[in-house]
Amino acid sequence: MTSLLEVRDLRTEFHARDGAGTVRAVDGVSFSLAAGATLGIVGESGCGKSTLARSILRLVEPKSGTILFEGEDVRALPQRRLASLRRHMQIVFQDPYASLDPRQSVGAILAEPLEIHRIGNRSSRRARVAELLDLVGLGKEAAEKFPHEFSGGQRQRIGIARALSLSPKLVVADEPVSALDVSIQSQILNLLVSLRERLGLSYLFISHDLAVVEHISDWVLVMYLGRIVESGPVEAIYARPSHPYTQALISAIPQAAAGGRAGRIVLAGDVPDPEHPPPGCPFHPRCPKAMPRCATEPPAERAVPASASTHRVVCHLF
Ligand code: SF4
Repeated sequence: MTSLLEVRDLRTEFHARDGAGTVRAVDGVSFSLAAGATLGIVGESGCGKSTLARSILRLVEPKSGTILFEGEDVRALPQRRLASLRRHMQIVFQDPYASLDPRQSVGAILAEPLEIHRIGNRSSRRARVAELLDLVGLGKEAAEKFPHEFSGGQRQRIGIARALSLSPKLVVADEPVSALDVSIQSQILNLLVSLRERLGLSYLFISHDLAVVEHISDWVLVMYLGRIVESGPVEAIYARPSHPYTQALISAIPQAAAGGRAGRIVLAGDVPDPEHPPPGCPFHPRCPKAMPRCATEPPAERAVPASASTHRVVCHLF
């Protein structure tokens, strides 16, 4: 499969709240995403996964690094070209209610991207809105209603329809099911899977929920304090989680979803303040396997022995 998206050594920084120094929200991230595939990005809140997605879409400006979308250098594009490239890169947000304008009908919400990009006329746009509603499992009568008339799951279907209105190639889904009831989550996940197959989409799927990521992803990145700590094919990551952080996250999946994986690892403390990341391995204050060198020496990325050759981990245990 050819690469749709290639990210190399991407770095995004923010000013620290105290005005002195910077926060490395994304710190040297590299990966590639094949056309038609789903890359799951996991980690606790504050690990940098949403900033990574927004940096790729240039909703926040990265400090350095390369983003190639179908071979085109996204960071080098002037704003006008970027606007047209964004047709092919769309985002689905966590909270569908907050992201839908309550004063607009669903038909107007779905037609708006087409109007902005001057695609079609009134009647072709109306037909496209009906087609989008059908794609996400809502009847065309939904076009006349307003967001508050729908349930949370239905609103997320509208959010997905809006993301699809310009026929994108890449959809960034940022915690798209975490605001929904568990029973509704699987419906939305199944919808995303079937849309990927029908429309040949690629997804960057961001979630703190490893059971959800396992369900939908081909490839997984585990992030901690802005860096990738483990990456590889989904089967390898879940069969042989190798970084102690990944092991702890996977051990927290409810047993039914985790296929009987035993022994929950409870991590000490919260994610450290990203303004003051710990030296050495940034995970060392919480790591149940930390050694003296972990406090001073940053680990390098290595292949995980006896696993897929593309399964990589950043830890002194390897
Ligand atoms: Fe734990 Fe050390 Fe590995 Fe970091 S490098 S994850 S502290 S064992």
